[in-house]
Amino acid sequence: MSSFDIPETMQAWVLGNADELTLVEKPVPRPGSAEVLVRIDAVAICATDLEIISEGTPALIEGGLPFNKNFTPGHEYMGTIIELGPTVDEYAVGDRIAVEIHAGCGRCERCRMGMYTSCLNYGANYGEYDKGHRANGYTTDGAFTQYAVNHINTLVRVPDSISDEVATLIVTAGTAMYGLDVLGGLVAGQSLVVTGAGPIGLLGVAVGKALGANPVILTDIVDERLAIGQKLGADHTINAAQEPVIEAVHRIIGDRGANFVLECSGATNAVNEAIKIVSRGGRVCLSAFAHEPVSVDTKHIVANNIYLYGIRGEGRSAVRRAAALMAQDRFDASLIHTHTFPLSELPTGLRYAREKIDGAIKVVIKNQE
Ligand SMILES: [Zn+2]
Ligand SMILES: [Zn+2]
Repeated sequence: MSSFDIPETMQAWVLGNADELTLVEKPVPRPGSAEVLVRIDAVAICATDLEIISEGTPALIEGGLPFNKNFTPGHEYMGTIIELGPTVDEYAVGDRIAVEIHAGCGRCERCRMGMYTSCLNYGANYGEYDKGHRANGYTTDGAFTQYAVNHINTLVRVPDSISDEVATLIVTAGTAMYGLDVLGGLVAGQSLVVTGAGPIGLLGVAVGKALGANPVILTDIVDERLAIGQKLGADHTINAAQEPVIEAVHRIIGDRGANFVLECSGATNAVNEAIKIVSRGGRVCLSAFAHEPVSVDTKHIVANNIYLYGIRGEGRSAVRRAAALMAQDRFDASLIHTHTFPLSELPTGLRYAREKIDGAIKVVIKNQE
C-alpha cells in the first residue's frame, strides 16, 4: 500500500461576492465512515461553475446563495485516493478515481430509486438539517482546491490508459449517458438528434453512437464544434445559423422525424424546435436550461403524444457506464479538452471558458504534473 503525506492546510479558491474568487488556506478535510480523502489531480470548468460564480444558483449553501460563505466551487474532477475513512475496503490508497457530483442522502424516496441527483434532501447537509446529502461544488465544497472528501458511492475507477485531463470528462459523459437512460436507453438503430455541441452535447453524440444509435445528427451554430462532433460519431451535422434545423432533419431522416432528441443548447427556442424534430410519440430530454422562462407549444406536445423529460446531472450510476465506454476506447473524449491551467491561474481558466477564447471547449485546471 502506498502512502502519502497529508498536510494540515491546503490552497483553496473561495467565492466572496459575485465574480469574486480569492485563493486562501483552508484545513484539509478528513474522511468519515464510508468516505475517502481525494488528492485532486485535475478539475474541468463547467458552464454551471460560471453560472454559480456569477449568479449563485444552482449552488445552495446553508439554505441560501453561496456568496461570502467560505465556499469553494468546482465539480468535474478526478484524483488519487490518499486516505481511507473507517470501514472502507472497496478502494485502496493510491487508486485513481473520477468523482460523481452527487451523493444523495441515501434515505429519501428518490435516492432509494437511484435518482440521487434529485435527492429530496438536496442541500440538507448543515446543522440540525444535516441528512448527509452532498453535491460537490453545489451544496458542499468543490474542487477548485487541492483535497476533497468523497463518499465511496461517488467514486469511479480510472484506468491508466485515460489521462488526468480526459478523466475529468467522465462525469460529463455520465450526464449524456443519464439523458439517454431517461429517454429509455433503447437507442440502438434509433435516430438521435443532439441539439447544441457543448461538452454534454458532444459527449451525447459519442455515447449515443457507442450505444448504436443510427443515424446520429448534431446541430450547432459553430462549424468547428460540428467538426469535432463528426469525429465523435455524428453521421450528419446541421449548422443552425445557416439552414432551418427542422427541415434539415426531415431531409436526412424523413418527414416523420427523429426517435429521440437530446437537447443540450439551452437556446430560447430549443424546446419548440425539439418537439418538432421528434416524431409523434417520440421523446425529448432536456439537459440544458435557458436563462429565462420560455413559452412552449404545449398543443403540439399533447396532440402528438410527445414525452418531455428534464435531467439533473448523472443519476443511476450512469457515470460508471460512461467510464466503461471510455475505458474501452469507444470514443476519443480528448477532442473536447482544449486548454489546461494550474490551480493558481484559475481566474484565467474561467475567462477562457466564459469567453470561449481560442476555441475553448473544456478548460482543465491541473494540480499535479
Ligand atoms: Zn458540470
Ligand atoms: Zn435523498
